[in-house]
Amino acid sequence: MTKTAVITGSTSGIGLAIAKAFAKGGANIVLNGFGSPDEIKKATDDVSALTTGTVVYHAADMTKPAEIADLITTATTRFGGVDILVNNAGIQYVEKVEDFPIEQWDRIIAINLSSSFHTIRAAIPGMKAKGWGRIINIASAHGLVASPFKAAYVAAKHGVLGLTKTVALEVAESGITANSICPGYVLTPLVEKQIPDQARTRGITEQQVINDVMLKGQPTKKFITVEQVAALAVYLAGDDAAQITGTHVSMDGGWTAQ
Ligand code: NAD
Repeated sequence: MTKTAVITGSTSGIGLAIAKAFAKGGANIVLNGFGSPDEIKKATDDVSALTTGTVVYHAADMTKPAEIADLITTATTRFGGVDILVNNAGIQYVEKVEDFPIEQWDRIIAINLSSSFHTIRAAIPGMKAKGWGRIINIASAHGLVASPFKAAYVAAKHGVLGLTKTVALEVAESGITANSICPGYVLTPLVEKQIPDQARTRGITEQQVINDVMLKGQPTKKFITVEQVAALAVYLAGDDAAQITGTHVSMDGGWTAQ
């Protein structure tokens, strides 16, 4: 039976790669995220070209609980339920904690943490009714360890791991798993945007940010690719991963081994 995957923040980066990977498996895909009409059309066309299923786009803003609820309702009405939910939308803001703007704190907690609560609570009744579901939360190595100047991001990602564990316990007997993926540095627009910010905050060059800050703690000295993260999401969504639940899988080039 054709599975339906909802991927938040899938107009770019890791989310788009995950959408493409599930599309290759023939799933119906619900795309979400920001972008210009041209970018959204391109993402929709690119993903549609890969799947025998149907691709729709929903513009829900992950700071707005009513829009998030409508995202899940739309997927359920259109496709008869959400089988795979990938909470991926995320933003970053880099600043010293004492100067951290309150509105940026609130926005990051809303998008990077609370949106997952809203999608999960809306999707679980349908998954329970089917007796099958997969919840995959894209956390971060920053769900396990901290770095300076990222108070809201680190707090939100640690929260995602706690939410994931709690949900996994609640649905363990319903054929539903909930797990987090904890990537290290993946080269996406989110990371590219951080490079000038980090250079400014730390008073170093952009090249020094790449070599001495970003990949300093990643022992392999290589950025992770979006395709590698997507392949892990596909594995976690498969039946072979049915007994992996309530945990996280790191893909961080050895970062958190230190
Ligand atoms: P990205 O900026 O390329 O993509 C982020 C996506 O989220 C985009 O589609 C964007 O439109 C969407 N988005 C942002 N705000 C939104 C909102 N309010 N409502 C709906 N959608 C919104 O970033 P990425 O690097 O692909 O990051 C994806 C996820 O992976 C994030 O949760 C991020 O924290 C996590 N992550 C990234 C890295 C990395 O190194 N890139 C590492 C670990 C974890």
